[in-house]
Amino acid sequence: QSQELSQVQIDYHAALQALVEDGTRMVCTGRMHTDRICRFESLCYSTEAEEFVYFHSNSSVMLPNLGSRRFQPALLDLSSVEDHNTQYFNFVELPAAALKFMPKPVFVPDVALIANRFNPDNLMHVFHDDLLPIYYTMQQFSDLDLEARLFFMEGWSEGVHFDLYKLLSNKQPLLREQLKTLGRLLCFTKSYVGLSKITTWYQYGFVQPQGPKANILVSGNEIRHFTKFMMQKLNVSLEESSSEEYIVVFSRTINRLILNEAELILALAQEFQMKTITVSLEEHSFSDIVRLISNASMLVSMHGAQLVMSLFLPRGATVVELFPYAINPEHYTPYKTLATLPGMDLQYVAWQNTDREDTVTYPDRPWDQGGIAHLDKAEQERIIKSTEVPRHLCCRNPEWLFRAYQDTKVNIPSLIHVIRQTVKSKPGPKKQKWSGSLYPGKVRDAKCQASVQGTSEAKLAVSWQIPWNLKYLKVREVKYEVWIQEQGENTYMPYILSHQNHTFSENIKPFTIYLVWIRCIFNKNLLGPFADVLLCST
Ligand code: UDP
Repeated sequence: QSQELSQVQIDYHAALQALVEDGTRMVCTGRMHTDRICRFESLCYSTEAEEFVYFHSNSSVMLPNLGSRRFQPALLDLSSVEDHNTQYFNFVELPAAALKFMPKPVFVPDVALIANRFNPDNLMHVFHDDLLPIYYTMQQFSDLDLEARLFFMEGWSEGVHFDLYKLLSNKQPLLREQLKTLGRLLCFTKSYVGLSKITTWYQYGFVQPQGPKANILVSGNEIRHFTKFMMQKLNVSLEESSSEEYIVVFSRTINRLILNEAELILALAQEFQMKTITVSLEEHSFSDIVRLISNASMLVSMHGAQLVMSLFLPRGATVVELFPYAINPEHYTPYKTLATLPGMDLQYVAWQNTDREDTVTYPDRPWDQGGIAHLDKAEQERIIKSTEVPRHLCCRNPEWLFRAYQDTKVNIPSLIHVIRQTVKSKPGPKKQKWSGSLYPGKVRDAKCQASVQGTSEAKLAVSWQIPWNLKYLKVREVKYEVWIQEQGENTYMPYILSHQNHTFSENIKPFTIYLVWIRCIFNKNLLGPFADVLLCST
């Protein structure tokens, strides 16, 4: 079938003439292929060659102009997963004059966002790699509004969560396969290529074992803007003062099962005196799950992609992640990292089954469901005897898959015990206290005055004014940190002070130059910037 591109009529002849005369124009942000997003006018795509095409003319622009470095390894990453060699973007070049000999271009009038989805059948990947990055890439460029159209070039079919991708814009997203039905040569009038990585918090272990990203740049505030947008699109309203508090157990029904789920639900209900319900991706609609989770006091689930739904938990709620036997919770932390992002305001608890008796393994399943029958006998035995999966790279480590797909009988007293170490009274949303963390500005008008007594003693009187923003703020505790460094030395003497002046006499020598560094600290841990260094001679 052919895809309806847009109601907007374009003057075909004029568009073709502009393409031939002006060629392709590209201007990108970012210094490396891993942080680059490019904006194009008249980027084309040959559905026969399955290549993007850049047409050179007198008016074309290519910034950055990398020469052959464009292939080392690529112009940019099409997905938000960093530097993955299946996710690279590039184009081939032609002179605009070649258009005379090519199929007639079909113009795409919508502003396009062109990207790859990383793993559209896994809910964690859907949110972390695709939905959040697409949402914030669209926030970054104002013409990527709700009328923009998403083009997914990874080559997968829609996948089970396609409805979620459809929420991000008013136009139906198009898949690589569908482009063929539009024409042999497509030309995007205006397009953006690539995704922002600014919201991602986890690396999946392609080059080093998986773990939190080194430099996380997202906080709960931005995550919650996104979830609010998604909830509006899903028609899920946030119930304000919801009447009853409850616990949600998010269960898996195909594998990695909780074998005593009924017992677990009863125990949670009893211990916390709360209604406890179960949901699963197989038995509930996505909107229902979001509705239930967004008002829950606690979310309990086996480790697994469904736990990314803790994105939708209210502030103050508790996430309880259950790990099968031999899986060290510290080595698999996508959901812990999410729950503990600054400003997410969630409590996180990990429980691990440490009892061999309580685990059920499936050595005879296919390898991708954790079977190990294909391995040699000695290796099978080693794996079965092992009490912990050693750290490993993604994605096909058989020992990891074997342990990850075990079923577990949850030891109830041990689970309640670990939850109780974190959740002292009732779990669940606290009255929203605004824990907004604002940082102090620089201290102002810093001055020093030295006085020398005799040949061996000296004093340094230092004073300064409060940071400019403090007079507009209510801050519980204001302190100042002062470092005194003798010029030319690597070390310094640090002081924490409550007032705006202090006379230093310890270790102050006469006829010496000191560097004095001063910064303000709000509420013990909000460290401001240092003011320009003061030079003080005794
Ligand atoms: N899944 C599910 N129920 C199951 C098993 C899997 O809903 O019993 C979902 C899971 O949440 C994820 C997808 O199916 O979205 C793929 O699951 P897989 O076990 O491959 O990945 P993991 O959950 O370990 O990331």
